Amino acid sequence: MSRFLSDHVADLTPYTPGEQAVIPNLLKLNTNEHPYGPSPRALAAIQAATTDSLRLYPDYSALALRTAIAKLHGLQADQVFLGNGSDEVLAHVFDGLLQHGKRPLLMPDITYSFYRTYCKMYDIQPELVPLAEDFSIRVADYTVPRGVQPAGIIFANPNAPTGLALSLADIEAIARANPDIPVVVDEAYVDFGAESASALLGRYDNLVVIHTLSKSRALAGLRVGFALASKAIVDGLIRVKDSFNSYPLDSLAQAGALASIQDEDYFQTSCKAVIDARTGLGQELAKMGFNVLPSAANFVFVRHPDHDAATIAADLRKHGILVRHFTVARIEQFLRITVGTPDDCARLCNTLKTVLAK
Ligand SMILES: *Cc1c(COP(=O)(O)O)cnc(C)c1O
Repeated sequence: MSRFLSDHVADLTPYTPGEQAVIPNLLKLNTNEHPYGPSPRALAAIQAATTDSLRLYPDYSALALRTAIAKLHGLQADQVFLGNGSDEVLAHVFDGLLQHGKRPLLMPDITYSFYRTYCKMYDIQPELVPLAEDFSIRVADYTVPRGVQPAGIIFANPNAPTGLALSLADIEAIARANPDIPVVVDEAYVDFGAESASALLGRYDNLVVIHTLSKSRALAGLRVGFALASKAIVDGLIRVKDSFNSYPLDSLAQAGALASIQDEDYFQTSCKAVIDARTGLGQELAKMGFNVLPSAANFVFVRHPDHDAATIAADLRKHGILVRHFTVARIEQFLRITVGTPDDCARLCNTLKTVLAK
């Protein structure tokens, strides 16, 4: 490590993204990308925006896109905050909405590991609340009053990497019990089988709902994410953005994201195809002896009672199939497997049969 790094940066623990490997005949089931690709209308819009006008700065307020997203969720455009991927939106939420210093930020012990990276980055203290034995979030853990007021609450719904979802009533209970702190719900996978807490925004001004176009809209390469919240919170996030990068979304991203948001038919059809494939994949894996957690996401979280997870992942890799294995307490015997097309699932299952038989 360079001796020129600031103490703060030398101390960070950066997030490790899933591998983007270059392997012949690769089947990538490790980063929850959508197997069907973006809406053709999004691709056409990006092409149409690829003109001489790229010499100009993009619309820094991205008003057309914010208006379309607001309409989809029954909100106003000034309740939508956009970022260069939802990871960037999350970074601004941590910086702008969660008190830095001593007050704890409550989050599940098993959840998206980027939250802890941001805690380090912004000097926020994470307090890891253990999931129940069955990996569900225990709502009561977040609704009882505490001696010290937390800095906030954050969790993913459906949770990652478990795939388990809370009901809207449970999320409402958490928001209602914590009126004076931000409750952040990361809905990266919500379109694959859970209900969006955006429906609660009219009643709870402490709620912040985060979405991404990377998963259900198949636009991970375009880098677009957003937060839905009260106008006051969005104004606060814009203060952070405009102190960091006023133009987080380039013109092509704005054009492609807008066309994607407006193509409801393609969105519904392609998500339904993944949901159907998930059902079939879960059944096949169960037949092979895997325990399969009930998933509301575009991945399954599984373990085999007789086979080591890291070994299975390494063996699959030799066959050109990548899945995600986390060396994290409680889940080191689990694999997170992205749901692909029915052909992808069949290749995975056939290869798994070979791997488990060896
Ligand atoms: C993929 C993912 C994100 C990040 O999405 P980007 O918009 O691609 O940055 C955020 N939260 C969770 C839980 C995710 O799985």
